[in-house]
Amino acid sequence: MSFLFFLCYSGDPTMYENYWEKIGEKTTIVIRGWDSMSYFSDLKSICWFLEPEFAKQVVRLHKIVGNAETQGRHVVVGTGSSQLYLAALFALSPKESTQPIHVVSAAPYYSSYPSMTDYQKSGLHKWAGDANNFTEMGPYIELITSPNNPDGFVRHSCVNKTGGAMIYDLAYYWPQYTPISSPADNDLSLFTVSKSTGHAGIRIGWALVKDPEVARRMTKFVELNTIGVSKDSQIRAAKILEVVADSCEQSGSSDFEQSFFEFSYHLMEKRWQQLRETVSKSGGIFSLPQFSPAFCHFHSKVLQPHPAFAWLRCKDGIEDCESFLKGHKILTRGGRHFGASSSYVRVSMLDRDDTYKMFLKRLSSIR
Ligand code: PMP
Repeated sequence: MSFLFFLCYSGDPTMYENYWEKIGEKTTIVIRGWDSMSYFSDLKSICWFLEPEFAKQVVRLHKIVGNAETQGRHVVVGTGSSQLYLAALFALSPKESTQPIHVVSAAPYYSSYPSMTDYQKSGLHKWAGDANNFTEMGPYIELITSPNNPDGFVRHSCVNKTGGAMIYDLAYYWPQYTPISSPADNDLSLFTVSKSTGHAGIRIGWALVKDPEVARRMTKFVELNTIGVSKDSQIRAAKILEVVADSCEQSGSSDFEQSFFEFSYHLMEKRWQQLRETVSKSGGIFSLPQFSPAFCHFHSKVLQPHPAFAWLRCKDGIEDCESFLKGHKILTRGGRHFGASSSYVRVSMLDRDDTYKMFLKRLSSIR
């Protein structure tokens, strides 16, 4: 990819690098040569490769943030929430059926879902597109991403039928992106450190699962797939979640005494302010979604959402917004990837400062 191009194409969460650099050694851990030798972590847990310290910090952080109910839930760890999405499909697909189960999500949906669902041509499950147009009979799986990638809106199930299983992808249900209205109380929710703390490269996600049989089948999937999940990564993730939880409990007033979520909230707020200002000066070439403020139980006040992606629309007459922006050296992902119109593009709000500034500069030069 040319250096000249702006790289807010993917959702790489490098924006948080600065914070973690300033935090310094607090998250440093030592892994010795004789650590992590066994495949096994906790034989008492359904998820036998789950590191107890990681599970402890997951539960602790959810309690502090108030974004998910953990009581009566089994934690299943995965190599990113991506692996857990596949594990959830495996676990929720009927075992004995001769037909693959339909998998739907309301458009615009996360662009990886269709290919992740179908790339192995599984006999178990099959992508069936936009949940809004789903009329087939029989069982189905609905994916609900809230707040949504790409458009940032809070979402609920939209298929109005019985017999459906739900997977809630809550990768962005954290206080820097959206007001925390209540603890998620779902049968199956997916979370990831990739978007909560920005540590996408350590590849750790977790599922909170109500039904022990579903947790068992998800665990079986990960066992068949990778015989567990890197202990080194789980131990690192546990330390990072611990430092985030500590920062919430001990927050002060200076920039780096603030909790991680206060710090990241203010950064997102600033970026959205700058983007809205730039878009408002575009003379109607571009527009952005409008969000309603809501009470955030974590911050204890009414706040605006600041999603991880901007769902930018080009005015009528510009049919292909992605190509139009590419012509101005701005790389984005076009609406078609998300089951939507090509007059939309998705822009990542989580890139490094320099890249984000360059994006604003190039966007503001379009008249
Ligand atoms: N779900 C959504 C909605 C995402 O946006 C992403 C990352 N782009 C993922 C899941 C994948 O996360 P992970 O890095 O944990 O595999």
